[in-house]
Amino acid sequence: LNRRLAEFGTTIFAEMSALAVATGSINLGQGFPDTDGPEEVREAAVRALRDGRGNQYPPGPGVPELRTAIAAHQRRRYGLSYDPDTEVLVTAGATEAIAAALLALLEPGDEVVALEPYYDSYAASIALAGGRRVPVTLRPHEGSFRLDLDELRAAVTDRTRLLLINTPHNPTGTVLTRAELAAIAELAVERDLLVVTDEVYEHLVFDDAEHLPLASFPGMRERTVTIGSAGKTFSFTGWKVGWVTAAPALVSAVRAAKQFLTYVSSGPFQYAVAEALALPESYYDDFRRSMQERRDILSAGLTAAGFKVFEPAGTYFVTTDIRPLGEKDGFAFCRALPERAGVVAIPNAVFYDDREAGAPFVRFAFCKREDVLREAAERLRAM
Ligand code: PMP
Ligand code: GLN
Repeated sequence: LNRRLAEFGTTIFAEMSALAVATGSINLGQGFPDTDGPEEVREAAVRALRDGRGNQYPPGPGVPELRTAIAAHQRRRYGLSYDPDTEVLVTAGATEAIAAALLALLEPGDEVVALEPYYDSYAASIALAGGRRVPVTLRPHEGSFRLDLDELRAAVTDRTRLLLINTPHNPTGTVLTRAELAAIAELAVERDLLVVTDEVYEHLVFDDAEHLPLASFPGMRERTVTIGSAGKTFSFTGWKVGWVTAAPALVSAVRAAKQFLTYVSSGPFQYAVAEALALPESYYDDFRRSMQERRDILSAGLTAAGFKVFEPAGTYFVTTDIRPLGEKDGFAFCRALPERAGVVAIPNAVFYDDREAGAPFVRFAFCKREDVLREAAERLRAM
């Protein structure tokens, strides 16, 4: 393994899912739903397979039906217009979109300012691209993890090439506010930075929180690469269909990298996701409502079990502080948890450069059936 990758080892998600299987534990670690997405969308995939649509290499940028559906979604939902031919790219999940964007846009030595805790593939993709990550840590403040805009500003240097943003934010559940996004946009314009924004949880925002795409802020459309995922929005994480929307020069740069990573993305699923994106608003409302109910079940259960809960405004993750349980090391806690309680969770420390800062935090996923969440909560309470 080369020096760029040596520090990364096996992803925590694979490690913890294997532990869940080996110990027969309830897996609230890796974020994947235990209920598949809509039946009609699965049927659309079967139809595409059967009718021979996408069984051979689809077009590099993605099938036109899907690119058109992605553009229509961005317009309908956010009033953002993208040309399906030049401003939309289909990728093998958001993971490839992130990697391809960084590989395409960074020169070796360029600095990337990223929110910490950061999704684990960000650090690896920055490293693969020869970039340097500069984390800006979200810190607990009145029950949620907040961004300090002065720290963000101070992290930008002459070597900063891009900002890597994620809202709704994994693992903290923070949804950046309009004021925060406006400040990020101002900074990007002032310092002439590119922005890659991972908005895969765009449809999972709760209570009165609102997801606002960074690309919709003044001066941002031309400098922002926005990333979405059918894995998250339609509960098909195994299909690996994601996408990028951006100005033509940025999309063609990302595509230049993508063509040598995967060349194209899986064909039949693209047709099915095109149909999924055209589902009525009620699909998105029901999805959000049911995930919010699960959040409430798990949050209440974790609180009853003695955790301090940071109620997420978005995503399907809840971050907890384990110190009220008399614990301080999330790694040790998560390694012991299957044995102690038959539950698997993720130590947030893996999402930090500053492991010390992340040590007391542990993440639980609530994209699981309600009975599973209740059982997990009961086990944790009895532990
Ligand atoms: N970004 C974030 C913030 C995620 O949480 C995930 C997956 N859980 C991804 C990207 C990757 O998405 P995909 O499965 O579409 O590659
Ligand atoms: N994004 C998911 C999570 O945060 C997992 C995806 C993965 O395993 N790469 O749990």
